[in-house]
Amino acid sequence: MTVPALTLNNGVQIPQLGFGVFLVPDTETQAAVRAALQAGYRHIDTAKLYQNEAGVGAAIAEAGIPRDELFVTTKVWNSEQGFDPAIASFEASMERLGLDVLDLLLIHWPAPDLDRYVDTWRAFEKLYADGRVRAIGVSNFQPAHLQRLLDETDVVPAINQIELHPLLPQNELRAFHAEHGILTEAWSPLARGGSVLTDPVITSIAGRVGRTPAQVILRWHLELGNVVIPKSVTPARIAENIDVFDFSLTSDDHQAIAGLETGERIGPDPDTFSRG
Ligand code: NDP
Repeated sequence: MTVPALTLNNGVQIPQLGFGVFLVPDTETQAAVRAALQAGYRHIDTAKLYQNEAGVGAAIAEAGIPRDELFVTTKVWNSEQGFDPAIASFEASMERLGLDVLDLLLIHWPAPDLDRYVDTWRAFEKLYADGRVRAIGVSNFQPAHLQRLLDETDVVPAINQIELHPLLPQNELRAFHAEHGILTEAWSPLARGGSVLTDPVITSIAGRVGRTPAQVILRWHLELGNVVIPKSVTPARIAENIDVFDFSLTSDDHQAIAGLETGERIGPDPDTFSRG
């Protein structure tokens, strides 16, 4: 299975579909990432918060896949925001991952109450200038947070990784990203396996195209131009979720899925969340 790549605003290529490992215990992460690599995933999304970077690193080390065929993302957590703490967090993550150069480093949340994301971003700019990371980006940033980085710093974020699924299509943010050359990456792309998978709009499209509801939703993301990182610890689902490159949806399908928007979030509100 070959996953197409999208090009970031600095020319770096990112596989459009990757593998998320949030809530996978470190002891199970190596097996999950091993299954993903065997199924053809080459892009892995972890974070300091997930406490499973070591498991990701172990799976990468044992796989023996050439480093330049892999794309690895990790994130700096709220309690490590600020210039020096962000650099230290990055170095500790790299130690756990067993990597010298990272593909993508993200600020996990803007945590506006802490008011440290501009300093954190300056640390990211240094890591980027020093060649330690191939691209830098953010996560859960709202337009005002992005605008502040655009106004006060030098490097435009390559990506904003945000909660995005049919209930929360994030049209306003996606338009902002498109205007500024920032790619949209969808977290909880399957709304964490919730009721959207049994919604009649999705199941009826799935029936017509002969695919599963999860595959229809992932296809919807890909056709919108999102980078997408579904998580599963179930080998059959890991394989199912990457098998989405040989069918397409119609404009009527897109219109019907657009009608599922409720604005419901699974995660916290980025304007107020600042847990350490
Ligand atoms: P997802 O939308 O990827 O859903 C994962 C859930 O759906 C799991 O319970 C999984 O079950 C189930 N599932 C997966 N595939 C299928 C399928 N084909 N059919 C039915 N059920 C399925 O949720 P996540 O929240 O994990 O988001 C994905 C990734 O995004 C995370 O792992 C993480 O990397 C990232 N993320 C980033 C955040 C941020 O703040 N930046 C926040 C949250 C997530 P099972 O595993 O049991 O198979």
